[in-house]
Amino acid sequence: MKSTFRILLIGFLFAVQCSFAQKATSTRWKGKQAAVVLTYDDALNVHLDNVVPALEAHQLKGTFYLSAFFPGSKSRIEDWKKAAALGHELGNHTLYHPCDASLPGRSWVSPDNDLHNYTTEQILKEILMTNVFLESLDGQKERTFAYTCGDTATGEGSFMEEIEDDFVASRGVRGALNVIGNINLLNVDSYGINGESGEDLIQLVKEAQEKNALITFLFHGVGGEHNLNVSLEAHQMLLDYLAENKETIWTTTMLDAAKHVKELQH
Ligand SMILES: [Zn+2]
Repeated sequence: MKSTFRILLIGFLFAVQCSFAQKATSTRWKGKQAAVVLTYDDALNVHLDNVVPALEAHQLKGTFYLSAFFPGSKSRIEDWKKAAALGHELGNHTLYHPCDASLPGRSWVSPDNDLHNYTTEQILKEILMTNVFLESLDGQKERTFAYTCGDTATGEGSFMEEIEDDFVASRGVRGALNVIGNINLLNVDSYGINGESGEDLIQLVKEAQEKNALITFLFHGVGGEHNLNVSLEAHQMLLDYLAENKETIWTTTMLDAAKHVKELQH
């Protein structure tokens, strides 16, 4: 009698466990194979002129990381307001876009824009003021952040945890897929794109589909305006693929993807 009860209990627990696992898989990425987040850095004119219309043609939404002091932010205020009203995320990419000049290959960084010379308080003030700027454009209190040049520290050390409460997530620059259970929302991995073909970009999405992962693309120039660039044709091929495969791919903003990851990893 006792052993029958034990078998029943084990069977019951196994069934409960299976249904939990099934639920976790079926709710992941809204029941789709992968999530795709398209991010565009540095407030370029081509983002407003090329990317927003291309996304809208397929009813896709992207995340645009603005450095508030950049010309493409300051001179296109009304256009960024319109992009936000369409449902695109305006993300925080600091006021002045400081980068750490002490790292290799950073001779282009001017001394006054050297993140290594910043105190942590200085970068926090800059980031929080950028949130005020962005809120004046989109009226939103919630958004995500992108580390400038991927740099996460001032001369005083890491500021990643200092901004944890101010953003739903922060995007980094390490080129890797984000797999549930292993996603660091303080430094979400993303593929920096420069010169890839449309086929290359689609191949990355297919890998995310195979691994049930979140993939984040990091674009700068799209059809020009930056030395890190993707052609309009390659970018369009990616959007066409995402639109044709909406049944199996969830393309969304970093904000919505990060909120979803928080629920799943809770
Ligand atoms: Zn940048």
